[in-house]
Amino acid sequence: MEKPQVELREDVRSYLEASFLAETEDEDKCRQDFNGLMETLASPPMYTTLRLNTLKLSREEIKDIISEDLRMVYKNRNWDPPQIFLHPSLEDVLVIENRGPKQLKQMEKEVVIDHNCGMAVLRGADIFVQGIIGAPANMMSGDMVSVYIDLDGKCLKGDMQPMGGSKFHVGNGVAQFSRDNIFKTKPTPSGVGILMSEPLYEAPCLSDLRPDLILAQNLPSIICTHVLDPQPGERILDMCAAPGGKTTHIASKMKNKGEVVAIDRSDQKVDKIQANLDRWGLTCVTCHACDALKIPIVPAGGSVNFPEIPTEYFDRVLLDVPCSALGQRPSLKNQITLNSLKSYSGYQRKFIRKAVQLLRPGGVLVYSTCTVTLEENEKQVIWVLENFPDLQLTAQVPHLGSHGRQCSGLSKNLQQLLQMFDPSCDESHDSMAVYDKDTIGFFIAKFTKIKS
Ligand code: SAH
Repeated sequence: MEKPQVELREDVRSYLEASFLAETEDEDKCRQDFNGLMETLASPPMYTTLRLNTLKLSREEIKDIISEDLRMVYKNRNWDPPQIFLHPSLEDVLVIENRGPKQLKQMEKEVVIDHNCGMAVLRGADIFVQGIIGAPANMMSGDMVSVYIDLDGKCLKGDMQPMGGSKFHVGNGVAQFSRDNIFKTKPTPSGVGILMSEPLYEAPCLSDLRPDLILAQNLPSIICTHVLDPQPGERILDMCAAPGGKTTHIASKMKNKGEVVAIDRSDQKVDKIQANLDRWGLTCVTCHACDALKIPIVPAGGSVNFPEIPTEYFDRVLLDVPCSALGQRPSLKNQITLNSLKSYSGYQRKFIRKAVQLLRPGGVLVYSTCTVTLEENEKQVIWVLENFPDLQLTAQVPHLGSHGRQCSGLSKNLQQLLQMFDPSCDESHDSMAVYDKDTIGFFIAKFTKIKS
């Protein structure tokens, strides 16, 4: 069977392919790699990674608790117990091996969900009532149903007919409510609407596990904060922080001692960061809802008097910029327009300028994206080195991913200082552990501001 590829708009796909082709001598290989990347992005990573709250319990204790909980969850679904292990080189990571794709039977009754809900299902989630768009008139609680993603986005809330158009079968599950209950009862019931007993991919459903002990995070995002290497007592800025996966990691690594400033652009987003901090009992972070690009920068010397921040105030800045997010997996269809795709690099440069102003000499800047474009990754690094002579590209620890990609203006030495997670890349990876490779697409660059 041919593997699905992520479906992009035609002009976006051509633009991306041309951008990769422009940097290579071997066009055939590059085309093949590009197709491989599009395929890989359509499937979920085969590992789930959890970051552990080691301020609360030891990693072994958390592993025991989570393993026991998961064994019960898998047993209740009649699945074989999962492979669970502590990451051999990251002290705060638990790895769970997923399984799939499975052969699926087709049930007579079809439930329709949207793309985002479908992507969560492929990573282990059940389907909440709000995620259900369509269901057959005769669906009763307890019925076994087949669940499909509506790839064209044409199905309307409450649709009853089997769906036309293109669809993708993500698994079978047990309806927890009748159709009338879901669409006609007021208020609409809440909670799980379809329990995914036979998903295409078996992966842990994390919603009932211990949120005070674990946080599901993609491996490269975890590595990103280790590369930042925040120390207890330091001043750290997390400029684009919501929902706060990396913020909680920063505060944990600092043993909750020091000053962390976390910013995102709306109250709603900041509430999510705060909720994550509260779950883990982390108090060394102040969260602010504002446009990070508009922070007034005042002369050096004082302390943070929000929104004003003194110039060169922070020891380290994490700049996990808004990006085209093309590295996210799985993704079967991405509607991003060419204009939007092209707009990111200029937007990201504004954040970089601001970050550099706020970083003290000798301080560390980590720039990261969850995308795969050269414009937002390698070419951004070239621009930084050309425009900020006091920033020096710095080696990363840990370095578990591959290197930056070939790009005119970037020497081999500099390429090696960059960390790229490209799950489809087949070169120089024989030594890489499969759980370090089969991740989302992600990019990390680390800079040090030299003292003049
Ligand atoms: N670091 C986060 C993920 C960040 S995604 C984590 O690890 O959990 C990028 C974030 O940038 C989004 O939450 C988006 O709301 C935020 N963002 C976009 N423009 C912004 C701006 N002008 N100021 C502050 N945050 C912004």
